[in-house]
Formats: sequence, C-alpha cells, structure tokens
Amino acid sequence: MNEKGILMVISGPSGSGKGTVVSCLTENTDFVISISATTRQPRDYEENGVHYFFKTLDEFGDMINNDELLEWASFCGNYYGTPKAYVEEKLAEGKNVILEIEVQGAHQIKKLYPEAALIFLVPPSKEELMDRLCGRGTEDEDTITRRLQRAEEEIKFLPDYDYVVVNDYVDKAAEKIMDIAKSEKMRSYRYKNMVEAFE
Ligand code: ADP
Ligand code: 5GP
Repeated sequence: MNEKGILMVISGPSGSGKGTVVSCLTENTDFVISISATTRQPRDYEENGVHYFFKTLDEFGDMINNDELLEWASFCGNYYGTPKAYVEEKLAEGKNVILEIEVQGAHQIKKLYPEAALIFLVPPSKEELMDRLCGRGTEDEDTITRRLQRAEEEIKFLPDYDYVVVNDYVDKAAEKIMDIAKSEKMRSYRYKNMVEAFE
C-alpha cells in the first residue's frame, strides 16, 4: 500500500469559512496545514510563521526564483504561495496535508499532483457569505467589495473540483472533510503494489 499522506486542497470564496474549518480540522486530527507565504499585510491577530510567512515583494520574488514554491498566485492585489519543502516532507512522512489556497493555485497543484483531492468549500447561500465576510470585521469596505466580486468569479471554478463541502456548521463541514480523507485512502492507485504481491 502507498503510505504517503493525502494532499487535500481547500478553496472557496472569501468568508466561506476555510480558515475556521481548517482550524477545526487541525485541532481534532493529525492533519497538517501548510503555512503559505504572502505579500499581504498581516491582520491584527495574525502572527508571522503561524498564519502566514509575511514577505516583502522582493522576498516573495526570491522564493519564486529559487524554486521554493509549489505554486503561487496573485489574489486581490497580493501574492500568495505554498512553500515546497514542508509539503513534500510531511507527505513523505505519511501525514495528510491541507493547502488552503485559491483557485489558480489549486489548478497548478492538480497538474503537479493529479492524485490531490480538490475540495471546494461553499457557504449555504450568497447572503450568508456576505454576512460572514462583513461580520468577520477584518477588511474595509473596498476590500470586502473586491472579495465579493472575486467570489462571483471563483464560484465558476466549482466544477473543476473533486468534492464540494457546504459549510453550514463548522464541525459538520470538518467531519465531511475527514470522510473525504478516509475515502481517498482507499483509492485504487494507492494499492497498485498489491497486484505485484499476488503475482
Ligand atoms: P475564509 O477563511 O474562507 O475567508 P473564515 O474562516 O475567516 O473564512 O470565516 C469567515 C467568518 O465566518 C468568520 O467570522 C467565521 O467565524 C465565520 N464562520 C465560518 N464558518 C462558519 C459557520 N459554519 N457558521 C457561521 N459562521 C461561520
Ligand atoms: P486571505 O487574504 O483571506 O488570507 O487569503 C486570500 C486568498 O488567498 C484565499 O482564497 C486563500 O485561500 C488564498 N491563499 C492563501 N494562501 C495561498 C497560497 O499559498 N497559494 C494560493 N494560490 N492561494 C493562497
């Protein structure tokens, strides 16, 4: 059996609850989350090395040039990318790794890792998305407007994903993602070496 961990990509519109659901998952499972690099300014509660690795534009450019990122993309005026070494190391250790990234990055990951499970997290409704995004209180009005416009574009990529999880309740959404990981562990490609063992 293939003992490598499952690579799970979680995307979804801003405010759909990705961060909240992922925190619930990392608190209740041994799934590990990849910490991204970004050129975005930290929010009040965010810590460098915990929520993101906060980088200047030059530092982010160096990471690209040194081939340190698995994927990267521009989102609402900032750059975001997944550091390569950590993901490769944890997958090799057999850990399930979560990438909480937007749609362009997810597309790049599927090309690199066709076996990655792409999960699109959606809110129960557009109204609920607006309430959550405004209720979070971390962005000004302009940024919220840009993120809502972006949400309309991002939702069009839903059919490219392997799974859709509706985030009605956080614990239920996290459970659904745990179920996906269990199913992914039973995918036939992980058992290819059994064929040889029976020859
Ligand atoms: P994202 O990471 O997708 O931008 P967040 O995790 O920051 O979204 O969630 C946006 C807001 O919605 C936060 O204030 C969070 O507490 C709230 N939230 C997330 N999931 C739920 C849920 N299932 N029910 C109610 N509120 C939620
Ligand atoms: P936020 O600014 O709200 O933290 O993140 C904005 C968007 O960037 C979200 O959709 C989030 O999933 C995405 N994102 C975070 N890290 C990465 C990353 O490493 N790569 C890509 N492509 N997107 C990311």
